[in-house]
Amino acid sequence: MSIQIPRGTQDILPGQVEKWQLIEKKARELCEKYQYREIRTPIFEHTELFHRSVGDTTDIVQKEMYEFKDRGGRSVTLRPEGTASTVRSYVENKMFGYATQPVKLFYMGPMFRYERPQAGRFRQFVQFGIEALGSSDPAIDAEVISLAITLYKELGLKKLKLVINSLGDKESRNAHREALIKHFEPRIGEFCSDCQNRLAKNPMRILDCKQDRNHELMQTAPSIIEYLNDESRRYFEKVQQYLTALDVQFEVDPNLVRGLDYYNHTAFEIMSDAEGFGAITTLCGGGRYNGLVEEIGGPETPGIGFAMSIERFLAALDAEGVELPIDEGIDCYLVALGDEAKDYTVSLLHKLRLAGFKAERDYLDRKIKTQFKAADRLQAQFVAVLGDDELKVNKINVKNMSTGEQTEVELDTFIETFKGFCHHA
Ligand code: ATP
Ligand code: MG
Repeated sequence: MSIQIPRGTQDILPGQVEKWQLIEKKARELCEKYQYREIRTPIFEHTELFHRSVGDTTDIVQKEMYEFKDRGGRSVTLRPEGTASTVRSYVENKMFGYATQPVKLFYMGPMFRYERPQAGRFRQFVQFGIEALGSSDPAIDAEVISLAITLYKELGLKKLKLVINSLGDKESRNAHREALIKHFEPRIGEFCSDCQNRLAKNPMRILDCKQDRNHELMQTAPSIIEYLNDESRRYFEKVQQYLTALDVQFEVDPNLVRGLDYYNHTAFEIMSDAEGFGAITTLCGGGRYNGLVEEIGGPETPGIGFAMSIERFLAALDAEGVELPIDEGIDCYLVALGDEAKDYTVSLLHKLRLAGFKAERDYLDRKIKTQFKAADRLQAQFVAVLGDDELKVNKINVKNMSTGEQTEVELDTFIETFKGFCHHA
């Protein structure tokens, strides 16, 4: 039997890959405007990093990591997300000492999670994410959220829903934690074994459990909002005020708790509201993580970021029926008739490309009609036909494929003349 692609992964083929490239390009452009700079970290890290930063009570660390021993016997893990590596690098490279603060970074690349594959859930997927480190100004929370929303909107998504919540600061969370333990402890036996573990380690994570989400105690659980102290409440209000100033619509959902252990204050998710979207509608998740940098060995540093996958972005575009403006088609296809003309087009094609045009010629010794078909298939704007006879008199025939208009031009100066015809380059 022939070898097939691993479960939960996909080949992104020409025809599809242009969509990925466009999203990636837009994301990069937006990051430049918002002044987030790219960071590229390794695809694998010491396993310990994810235990420390993502947290032992999360689904990621408990069941989803591609963890293995390398030949030197060290435990390494294919990165399941990007924040851990970014913060590791921030600490290792002492970015807290950079002159420009806050440090604003973005990453884009494959992440790996051993999950049960389904629509919108892959074992290898591409995340685009940003992190702003070194500021606890609520304006940066609003900026981070707005960058994500702006990217979705610029590429044509309309049916978006942003939900935000505050997880408060340490004091608020501790108070909430006590209340949660009181709430769940008497009946924790009715919950899954994960939740039983979470009760002592991080009871807030119980609220995020996918298995027990319909248990009656979930509906009546104490909400973090009631436990926010004054400072946390003020912070949350500021974030909302700034979001409004940025024209970003949102809903407050007191039950929103993000999967990762290190979040505090702002937490948010962007979902697709499109009909026909599958069960998984979360496009982007993020939040503030004051405390993570310290956990990784750096000085106390506030941070906030988000991560979104391109896979779910594309699924949302599909669900809304949005066609991305993919620039297909080439500028010029060279059709050659006769051996000398064929030889000539080798260098002529090269010159077209050096002049900045997307150009192609026949490589299968096809008849002229078939060469024209090939040009059509490539959506050529112009076809330039060169026969041995024209070659002798220093001419080439250029046909505009949309108007059908044909012009005979001097072969010597063809490239210059073509610049006047085709404004692509
Ligand atoms: P979920 O609840 O869907 O499992 P998550 O909380 O595990 O999501 P995060 O770790 O916050 O997700 O990752 C941020 C974003 O990355 C998600 O909002 C989603 O867009 C995307 N994502 C996460 N896991 C996958 C996956 N297996 N395949 C494709 N995209 C994913
Ligand atoms: Mg998950």
